[in-house]
Amino acid sequence: MRPDYTEIMSRVVIIGASIAGHTVAVSLREKNKDCAITLISEENCPLYDKRRLFEILAGNSGGKDIFLAGENFYNDRDISFLKERKASLINTEKKTVSFKDRPAKEALEYDFLVICSGRRFVLPEIPGIRKEGVFKFYSFEDARRFSGRLNLAAEVCLIGSNELALKIAGVIASRQKEVRLISPGTLSALSAPEGVEAVNSQVTEIIGESEVLGIRLKEGKIIGTSAVCFIEDTKSNIEFLKGSGIEVKGDFVSVDGCMRTNLGNVFAAGAVCLSKDSAGRMKSWNEAINESLLLVDNLVKVI
Ligand SMILES: Cc1cc2nc3c(=O)[nH]c(=O)nc-3n(C[C@H](O)[C@H](O)[C@H](O)COP(=O)(O)OP(=O)(O)OC[C@H]3O[C@@H](n4cnc5c(N)ncnc54)[C@H](O)[C@@H]3O)c2cc1C
Repeated sequence: MRPDYTEIMSRVVIIGASIAGHTVAVSLREKNKDCAITLISEENCPLYDKRRLFEILAGNSGGKDIFLAGENFYNDRDISFLKERKASLINTEKKTVSFKDRPAKEALEYDFLVICSGRRFVLPEIPGIRKEGVFKFYSFEDARRFSGRLNLAAEVCLIGSNELALKIAGVIASRQKEVRLISPGTLSALSAPEGVEAVNSQVTEIIGESEVLGIRLKEGKIIGTSAVCFIEDTKSNIEFLKGSGIEVKGDFVSVDGCMRTNLGNVFAAGAVCLSKDSAGRMKSWNEAINESLLLVDNLVKVI
């Protein structure tokens, strides 16, 4: 029988259950059988492979096997997985995490906190941006919603100049949709996938009543479309750290070479924190894994 460690057991709370949070939870459990691990996700599903998220847009059978952790995965490893919980406030004096739309009594106490809340795409503040038919593409839910719209849309406008935007454009074009890739950056017509029209410009307005009917470009030109997806600017999920005393530099959580923040019992890894090599670009999947493993190497020393 397992000894009762409840009096002395360290409580580790991990915010964010994508690849960084998942890796921390699993690796920590492998190295420490006794601590209590709680993994929190704002989303309503366990880990999926973001690198393959665009496959969902292929239609019928696309993206079916992108989930990487089955129903009992965390339970089997004695990890408490709480989904649909959005951390809204950290009290570093009381060492508690509170949640949006949940009573104060549901706040979680921690001895060690790990921030793996990653990033998200943001919609630009332009007229009409809240209209139906305007999407971003970061999470499974984003992909599911956009995919639903694509079933009905004949013309699609994608806004972005990164590799992901190109992949998405290619998949949608293969469904015989009329796809335009509006890139505010440096995309050339040559790099656009087959069947995709590349347009070097910026969107200044979304046109339509409640639903999108078109977009206006900065030159004044209007392009008719029934679905618009932004895949351009990202932002860290750090709003819940406000007032916590956890140091943030610019848009990122500050960490040292051990993935520790300015507070000795708070760590961070993945896209939410800044490393000198990744400045200014989206961290890769493998970088997030490596940072998480490094974090655990250091966390187990102090638990
Ligand atoms: C669509 C897409 C395609 C990509 N393709 C590639 C690729 O091909 N190759 C590659 O190397 N990299 C790719 N990347 C980048 C890679 O996926 C990221 O670097 C990686 O996902 C970062 O992992 P993370 O766990 O740090 O953060 P994220 O994946 O951003 O996850 C953060 C998690 O924390 C949750 N969260 C946020 N705030 C809260 C809160 N307050 N409370 C609770 N939970 C919260 C979020 O809902 C999310 O589940 C892609 C990214 C995207 C979005």
